[in-house]
Amino acid sequence: MIETDILIIGTGPVGLFTVFEAGLLKLKCHLIDSLPQPGGQCSEIYPKKPIYDIPGFPSILAGELIDNLMAQSAPFKPGFTLGEAAVKIEKQADNSFIVTGVKGTKHKAPIVMIAGGLGVFEPRKPPIENITAFEEKGIEYIIKDPEFYKDKTCVIAGGGDSALDWSIFLAERKIAKKIILVHRNNSFRGHLDSVQKVIDLADRGIIELITEAEVVGVEGKNSLEKVVISHQKQGEIVREVDHFIPLFGLKPSLGPIADWGLEIEKGAIVVNPLDYSTNIPGIYAIGDVNTYTNKLKLILCGFHEGTLAVQSAFSKIHPDKKNILKYTTVNGVQGF
Ligand SMILES: Cc1cc2nc3c(=O)[nH]c(=O)nc-3n(C[C@H](O)[C@H](O)[C@H](O)COP(=O)(O)OP(=O)(O)OC[C@H]3O[C@@H](n4cnc5c(N)ncnc54)[C@H](O)[C@@H]3O)c2cc1C
Repeated sequence: MIETDILIIGTGPVGLFTVFEAGLLKLKCHLIDSLPQPGGQCSEIYPKKPIYDIPGFPSILAGELIDNLMAQSAPFKPGFTLGEAAVKIEKQADNSFIVTGVKGTKHKAPIVMIAGGLGVFEPRKPPIENITAFEEKGIEYIIKDPEFYKDKTCVIAGGGDSALDWSIFLAERKIAKKIILVHRNNSFRGHLDSVQKVIDLADRGIIELITEAEVVGVEGKNSLEKVVISHQKQGEIVREVDHFIPLFGLKPSLGPIADWGLEIEKGAIVVNPLDYSTNIPGIYAIGDVNTYTNKLKLILCGFHEGTLAVQSAFSKIHPDKKNILKYTTVNGVQGF
């Protein structure tokens, strides 16, 4: 059992900054995230894009902002449970909560702050009946480490930037033994220069490009061995492969949190904008995941929400203590 003062669900920018603000009040945080790395949308969707509306930074790459937030919170030694979605919450007799992750990790805290953003990112999967049987046995929906595909025959499916860019990367750098790119249409949604590059690589025989086709079947004994492709004109095509990587994007959903008894409006958690508390005492919601009148889904607004929420959390955890605002310029950062 991991025990902490504040359990933060979500390691996006808002969750990370909240660790810092909680630390200034001597409250310890542990964070849980379904993604394998911290940073939420900034790391997962747009790490190389510059953000122009973070106060004090005329421009900062989203990935750099996350690095800075990690460094800023480091003195307060937050704990992390990564790669595990929070699926269950149980209120205890002492009013604390036990939050359980999908892999069974248990976290106990008097305060839970949901900084879940758009929710858990789930891959869009192709409608192949037995696809789950081959997950982690030759079928992956995200490429985490390109070297994993060294000398392997891979079918990549999709028509967006992800499918195009990974096909180019794995083929051009001669990482994979063979790349077969399968796409339902003749036209792609990705950047024009990436599309042109794929066509050039296909013309040179470096990528096998199969368009107007879909992977409709996967076969194998203990792991993936073959994919069955249905071509609009040529009919069935079978390829022997080591990996099938459908890159159809990630779709966010509030997921299990939607069933925790919280008041939900249009997929977001309703909060009191005085302190971002929810209808369940002890549970707060901050950042993109919450809603109230005039809500703006901006990072800087989430920072403000986290700051006020920890002040409220402090008085819940220490009802007998008065918290006096102290400037960091005066007090510095007294880590744990
Ligand atoms: C392309 C793009 C550009 C943007 N540009 C700007 C900009 O210029 N300026 C700006 O202010 N904002 C911008 N935004 C919006 C900004 O990224 C969000 O406002 C911000 O990421 C919200 O932070 P967050 O911490 O609330 O949530 P998120 O960043 O969404 O992080 C939430 C985290 O919670 C995790 N999570 C959710 N549910 C669970 C669960 N049940 N268990 C475990 N983990 C869970 C998710 O995996 C995720 O990592 C942009 C967004 C996009 C997509």
